[in-house]
Amino acid sequence: MPTPNLLQAVQFLKGVGPGRGELLAKIGIQTVGDLIFHFPRSYDDLTNVQGIDSLQAGVLQTVQGEVVEIDGEHLADGRRVAKAVIADAKGKCVAGIWFNMMTAVNKLKYGQKVAFSGKPKWYRDHWQMSHPRVQILTDDEAKLEVVPIYPLTEGLRPEHLRDMIRAGLDKAAADVAEALPDAARLKHEYPPVAQGLWQVHFPETLSQGQHAKKRFIYEEFLVLQAALAVRRRSVRDRQLAPRLATTPAVNERIRRLFPFALTGDQDRAIATVVKDLASDRPMQRLLQADVGAGKTAVAIYAMLVTVANKHQTVMMAPTEVLAQQHWRTFNQYLAQSRVRRALLTGSVSPSERAQTLAGIRSGEIDLVIGTQAIIADNVEFAKLGLVVIDEQHKFGVNQRARIKKLGIDPHYLVMTATPIPRTIALSVFGDLDTSTIKQLPPGRQRVVTRWNAEAQRDKVYQRFAEEMKKGRQAYIVCPLVEESDALDLTAATEHYDILRTGPLKEFRVGLLHGRLPDDEKQRVMNEFRERKLDLLVTTLVIEVGVDVPNATLLIIEHADRFGLSQLHQLRGRVSRGTVAGECYLFAGVTTDDARERLRSICRISDGFTLAEEDARLRGLGEFFGTRQHGLGDLRFGDLIADFALLDQARQDAIEIVGNDAGLKKPEHAALRQAVLARYGQSLDLAAIG
Ligand code: ADP
Ligand code: MG
Repeated sequence: MPTPNLLQAVQFLKGVGPGRGELLAKIGIQTVGDLIFHFPRSYDDLTNVQGIDSLQAGVLQTVQGEVVEIDGEHLADGRRVAKAVIADAKGKCVAGIWFNMMTAVNKLKYGQKVAFSGKPKWYRDHWQMSHPRVQILTDDEAKLEVVPIYPLTEGLRPEHLRDMIRAGLDKAAADVAEALPDAARLKHEYPPVAQGLWQVHFPETLSQGQHAKKRFIYEEFLVLQAALAVRRRSVRDRQLAPRLATTPAVNERIRRLFPFALTGDQDRAIATVVKDLASDRPMQRLLQADVGAGKTAVAIYAMLVTVANKHQTVMMAPTEVLAQQHWRTFNQYLAQSRVRRALLTGSVSPSERAQTLAGIRSGEIDLVIGTQAIIADNVEFAKLGLVVIDEQHKFGVNQRARIKKLGIDPHYLVMTATPIPRTIALSVFGDLDTSTIKQLPPGRQRVVTRWNAEAQRDKVYQRFAEEMKKGRQAYIVCPLVEESDALDLTAATEHYDILRTGPLKEFRVGLLHGRLPDDEKQRVMNEFRERKLDLLVTTLVIEVGVDVPNATLLIIEHADRFGLSQLHQLRGRVSRGTVAGECYLFAGVTTDDARERLRSICRISDGFTLAEEDARLRGLGEFFGTRQHGLGDLRFGDLIADFALLDQARQDAIEIVGNDAGLKKPEHAALRQAVLARYGQSLDLAAIG
């Protein structure tokens, strides 16, 4: 618990005052607590002393010597330069120079022992450092420093910030609660919290500062991982799920329904799911696969096992279009079966919906497909055995918690639209077991992706015309629905009009976007599926899941506006059969970031590699979006750069929670507090609350 010292407004701290208080507020520092947790980004290690004859150009180093020259001169270009030269015992020299800063040498005296720290360069016949940091060394104690480099704001001098932090630590470091259990702390040889804070800001050695910083990153990860571990444990311990057995007869009956043989990876995923379902612990499994790898088949298998065990099952999709598609697939596969099934989406009429809801409540309906919005809000199941959530990355941790409160304790199978970098899987989805499908169905070809100049547009249209004449189908994806003044984008509707009257007018063109009424969406999508349309002008509504194997051509307009994983999902629409898909990107003026994204998407076809690249380029916050993952930003840790620590924290958290599911032991009291303070709201942590 923060104490008054930590919560005190920073301006009342010794040496701060209103003026500096305002500067500090600009970098988010309001309280003394904020101040002492304002960590350095990095350190300049001025203890790394080199002999002058072994200096390396361009690397930050420190040299010591006696001042042998102090000088100032005017350069031809009007600049003034101050200069001080030091020499070591062997007479080797390093010159420090300061442009337009004549005062830099004022404090120096001939014969004085000093250290220069900087990146040297060889100039004519001697080493030179531009604007080195100067430390004056007294004779008795040559104390060199590790200097923290802080995020600053204009007007805030680093040495003032350090003084204020020192005052803050004096006042409040001892009040900071220790969240790390002793065992975990000692295992990694981390200092106690107050000592750690001092070491972060005033380290004696570089490694001491870095290790102390790690302590706080580890602590942050441990709190996150403990929260996830608690949640996972509590779901398992509290709840008894129905045991859903897969007999050989059931297995055979289900396999017969698929028009293809399952791939090895699909089979392996199914085997794990079958085992999970047979247990009375609720399955909490994340199924990830590259786009088009065939997750749906695994879901269908699990759902039919559930129905065979006389329990209900529901599959939730993020969009109407996708729910409709699954509905269609089920109806094809189950044409000859008596499985009682229903669709629940926004386009179902109110009276139909009421009837369906009643059927689900009474247990007359075995299998439900629908959109997440409709189902999570309305449905009560009589005997729910399995929930499947399709294309999950749209819903965050929060929403998952909400869905879980449906009726009794079902098994969960969560499927993601995008392969997830391991680091995210461990954090955002850290409470789930994971299965992965890497293998694509036989004969599947990778999409050929090209980034085209506007001048090549006609050629691309020609290519489309050629292929569409052969019976292939195509999508053109535009970022927005209507022309907006702010963003000069070719909107889908406008594009639709141009195409219908222009270059592709001999073809049947349809328009599908998110603002159409649901039944209209469904009508257009059906026409496309039934090949009554050759070309669909559309928006992100088809981003995930849409499966029309005959569509093999895709144009993405303003591709620079889409993220990498979106682009990969989108092109996944045209690699669902045995013909290689073709994806053409058009992009206007682009930023460097966008350019790098577009190059990556052309170069990398594997979704797993791309996801790592995406996370690297955008940072993880962006990858999922803070809003979406619902866990808030990390303050110290970086899920990618500090991955090893994350992994370590996860293992430790699992061990801690394994021995103390409710974090009830006295040695875990502080950790429990920290977990509740941070995640009590966003995660459902009733078990320890
Ligand atoms: P995703 O994993 O992206 O949800 P889907 O489940 O929609 O992928 O499957 C993509 C396409 O691959 C569908 O047309 C599906 O019928 C087909 N498919 C799935 N598994 C196989 C398989 N083992 N062999 C051949 N085709 C398959
Ligand atoms: Mg899918």
